[in-house]
Amino acid sequence: MTHHAHLLEERLFDCYLAETHGESIDPPSAEHLADCKSCASRYAELASFMDTLRADGVAEADAIFTPERLRAHPDLQEFYLGNVARGDRRSYRDVKQYRRSRRWYG
Ligand SMILES: [Zn+2]
Repeated sequence: MTHHAHLLEERLFDCYLAETHGESIDPPSAEHLADCKSCASRYAELASFMDTLRADGVAEADAIFTPERLRAHPDLQEFYLGNVARGDRRSYRDVKQYRRSRRWYG
C-alpha cells in the first residue's frame, strides 16, 4: 500500500475549477482521485455542492438579465446590432477580443 496524503479541500476545489473551465486536472490529483475512494467521495460532494451554488447563480443572473434588459444591453446593440451610440464603429475583430476578455465572467 502506498502512502500518500489525502487531497486537501483547497486542492479539491482547484480540481473542480479546472474541470468546470474545461481544463484537465493536474495528473497527481487526478491519479489520487482515481485511486482513493475517500477523496473521490469528498470531491463528488464538493462538486455537487458547488454545482448547486452555480445553478443558483445562473438563476439569479437570469432573473436580473431579463430578455428586455439583454435586448437593450449597449454591448449587444453596438457589437452585434451595429447601433453605435458613440460614433466610433468597431470591427468584428474587436468583438472576438471582447468575447475573449469576457469569457471568465460568463
Ligand atoms: Zn485520498
